[in-house]
Amino acid sequence: MDNDFRKRLDENSKRVASLLEQMGANHWHFAERTRQQTKINEAIEGIDELSHMICDDGSCHSVFCLGCRKRKQSSLYKQYASRLERFDNEDEARDNVRYVTILHELVPVSFDGIIAEESSLYDTEKSVDAFRERLKTIDRHFKKYDLWARGTIHLELINMELFRFASLSGRLTTKQSTLRDLEKATGKFSDYYILVHSHILFDINGLDEKKFAGYIRNKWNNNIRQVDVRRLTKYYIDGDRFMEHSVDDAIKNIAKYGYNGSNGKLTFATNWGSSRKVYTQQERKDALGNINAYVTGVMGLDALDTKLSKGHIRFLIKVHNLFTDNASRGLLVSIL
Ligand SMILES: [Zn+2]
Repeated sequence: MDNDFRKRLDENSKRVASLLEQMGANHWHFAERTRQQTKINEAIEGIDELSHMICDDGSCHSVFCLGCRKRKQSSLYKQYASRLERFDNEDEARDNVRYVTILHELVPVSFDGIIAEESSLYDTEKSVDAFRERLKTIDRHFKKYDLWARGTIHLELINMELFRFASLSGRLTTKQSTLRDLEKATGKFSDYYILVHSHILFDINGLDEKKFAGYIRNKWNNNIRQVDVRRLTKYYIDGDRFMEHSVDDAIKNIAKYGYNGSNGKLTFATNWGSSRKVYTQQERKDALGNINAYVTGVMGLDALDTKLSKGHIRFLIKVHNLFTDNASRGLLVSIL
């Protein structure tokens, strides 16, 4: 990342932070959650196959049921916390823990009619199967190092039109250009894609980071930032202050982000320039919050409609239910 770009990101993230401050974080979060639940309820209303969703006893396992989502998040956090107990201190944990994001591929999707939708769901399922197979090779390749990992698969609905538009504003971020490369790789031109990807926390157990990251980069196509491997940062910038960030805060946020329903706030992303905030800042400044604020506040694209429609939400839920309903391990990625 060149210095100018980094500088711009830092400037923007400062502006975003102060914007969020003004909004009144707690109130905003509560209103946001209520709005989300309402939108999800509206999207599944009258759809028989989705009527079992939104339970009050933890039986539906959907990430779009906010109760079940919370349960999954807290279970993942507990798994992280118990694994990290083996370290004597935070520095030792930081030396061994890596947060890995792998963008597997874009799957062109369409929900224009039942046949198009069914075949989109099928293609997504195939892609996730292939992704899982390739993820297994990491475990096999490093067998003798006894790696440990837990993470989740995200199936993010991408509105490519919106991305193209955002890039016209002259702010093509690294991630946007990565998306463009992935789009080329599909050989198809579609308005919508599912970005099959994963965020995984590894305990590399003393393995050399270069070896570890190198292998993963080679396994995927090594587009710019298709694979991102990083340590948990010790500090983050809040306004103009340096704040310490504990490992515990980091794993809490990672666990929460892992089960956010992929399009976390039921919006399309148009820019991920500040996505690193996921685990470098507190919940109220999480990545998707930043993206929203970034889009409307910083880029000045208020007119851009980033909200998912009922149809979009319904499709997103169906895509996730492929794994909630049919596979016992759902969206969890794990290496023992
Ligand atoms: Zn439920």
